[in-house]
Amino acid sequence: MSTPGNICRPDPTDGLETVRRAIADACARAQRDIASVTLVAASKTVPADTIEQTVLAGHRVYGENRVQEGKAKWPALRERFPEVELHLIGPLQSNKAREAVALFDVIHSVDRPGLCEALAKQCEKQGRRPKLFVQVNTGAEPQKAGILPDAADDLLTTCRETYDLDVVGLMCIPPAGEPPEAHFAQLAKIAARNGLDGLSMGMSTDYATAIEFGATHVRVGSAIFGARAYPTP
Ligand SMILES: *Cc1c(COP(=O)(O)O)cnc(C)c1O
Repeated sequence: MSTPGNICRPDPTDGLETVRRAIADACARAQRDIASVTLVAASKTVPADTIEQTVLAGHRVYGENRVQEGKAKWPALRERFPEVELHLIGPLQSNKAREAVALFDVIHSVDRPGLCEALAKQCEKQGRRPKLFVQVNTGAEPQKAGILPDAADDLLTTCRETYDLDVVGLMCIPPAGEPPEAHFAQLAKIAARNGLDGLSMGMSTDYATAIEFGATHVRVGSAIFGARAYPTP
């Protein structure tokens, strides 16, 4: 029987080392500077003591996909490791904007004007200015978060001109079971025509491909920490 307690977790520092090497190889193949790619270790469902092993191994950048889980795990870790940078990679409800702005340094899931407004209000109130990525639903999947590709330019204008938010790039999650290349290329194209450098794309199965297509942030979970004990949306 499989329960979360007896799932076999590999040593996360081995996983981290493997992923770092694969990123270096992908950068070499793409003739890119390794410093141009940030590894966001997706630590959702991973317990704090496992995360700590990777912090001690020198990894600084982490991504959570839920505000509540981030609040439960990270304040204590950050007190001990203030150099950590925390990213929100999952969907964000406007009523959690306050907590998200307080906790996260970077938010990858901005996808609608109402959320921009809520974030802008909190940035002003809290005197914080997290870096933001606009999530694009490149596969136009009805169940998935993200602005549709055709509406991305307008949303970016709203973020920047109406709300003066610090938008640094675009994020996508290609449809499961589809080759990701066309999605990565489309995201890069929308970013280029909007003058954005940041591309948050690539997960455990396709981060090397994403790097070939210009990813600046790869979000990698299971390749570092092992299979998750339970699925997440
Ligand atoms: C969980 C998650 C990832 C990492 O997924 P893996 O397949 O485990 O690498 C990346 N991005 C988002 C938005 C996620 O929720």
